[in-house]
Amino acid sequence: MSSEWLAGWPGVRHHEPLARHSQYGVGGPADAFLRVDDLAVLPELVARCTATGTALTILGAGSNALILDGGIRGLAVRSASKETQVADGQATLAAGTMMPRAALDLAHQGVAGMEWGIGVPGSCGASIWGNAGAFGGDVAGTLTACEVIAPDGTTRWIESSQCAFAYRDSAFKHDLAGHVVMRGAFAVSHQDPAAVRARTDAVQAERKRTQPYGVRSLGSTFKNPDGDFAGRLIEEAGLKGRRQGGAQISPKHANFILNIDHASAVDVLTLVDIVRDEVASRFGVVLEREIVLLGEELAEPAAAGRVR
Ligand SMILES: Cc1cc2nc3c(=O)[nH]c(=O)nc-3n(C[C@H](O)[C@H](O)[C@H](O)COP(=O)(O)OP(=O)(O)OC[C@H]3O[C@@H](n4cnc5c(N)ncnc54)[C@H](O)[C@@H]3O)c2cc1C
Repeated sequence: MSSEWLAGWPGVRHHEPLARHSQYGVGGPADAFLRVDDLAVLPELVARCTATGTALTILGAGSNALILDGGIRGLAVRSASKETQVADGQATLAAGTMMPRAALDLAHQGVAGMEWGIGVPGSCGASIWGNAGAFGGDVAGTLTACEVIAPDGTTRWIESSQCAFAYRDSAFKHDLAGHVVMRGAFAVSHQDPAAVRARTDAVQAERKRTQPYGVRSLGSTFKNPDGDFAGRLIEEAGLKGRRQGGAQISPKHANFILNIDHASAVDVLTLVDIVRDEVASRFGVVLEREIVLLGEELAEPAAAGRVR
């Protein structure tokens, strides 16, 4: 791998602690880190990484990805481009646009269809990657197409039907792995702004009622198993409020793991293991992780043997 070119790329920071670039506030250093506010830069950056064999990791807001304590090798790019345009029945959002911001801005303009986005405190690009959804709406149900960058740096629009969306899943985790989402176009319509705002208010109120709010979390730690709720099983297992180092299973919603006091990724992963083991032994249900792990663990014997 040759990554000397990164030394001359404007804005690149070396050995950058990633905890400060994640909403969750956890994560070791990136070999190289770059915040990209201008979408036009991304295709060339992706092509250059591929051509030089430089590992590339795209970071969103860090509301779903747990960056491990050993950090990220190669280049970590925080895609922070923000832009929302409405035309021809579609709202087109740049990858770095935060979903709650877009939902609110659109509601104020009387643009309906994206109200659910207020419940997803992450970026548009990552939300497409993971088919995020909340309170009755999701990417799969509203996205019409998205613009992506292939590993060779070429860009193209692909239809939503080509994205293989499923429950918190998409082709970007499988056949299209290595592609970077640049923009998403979502189907919207014009309605009375007051009516649209009433719906975003309702989603927001429900979110505040049911989820930990104003504290650091990664949302749902586990996917819901068929016909049940991970939170219910974890609560029934008596694990609400369980602490490990600076991490805690939320006393309000058992499927959320909070960073309450400078948690390390190992603290969080230890709780993940405890939950998975306890729920499996009590109920015979093996929970599947919804949070995403990025980077690598610190080399330490105590971390060995865990199943992720
Ligand atoms: C309080 C709280 C509530 C939440 N509620 C919900 C909910 O109701 N429903 C829900 O679905 N989620 C929920 N989440 C999880 C989270 O907000 C979503 O998964 C969101 O889409 C993640 O966005 P992000 O920008 O934070 O992504 P990150 O956590 O930064 O990254 C997630 C993944 O996306 C990849 N990625 C990021 N940008 C791109 C890109 N442009 N192209 C390709 N890959 C990319 C990253 O490499 C990583 O693998 C919640 C989180 C919190 C903290």
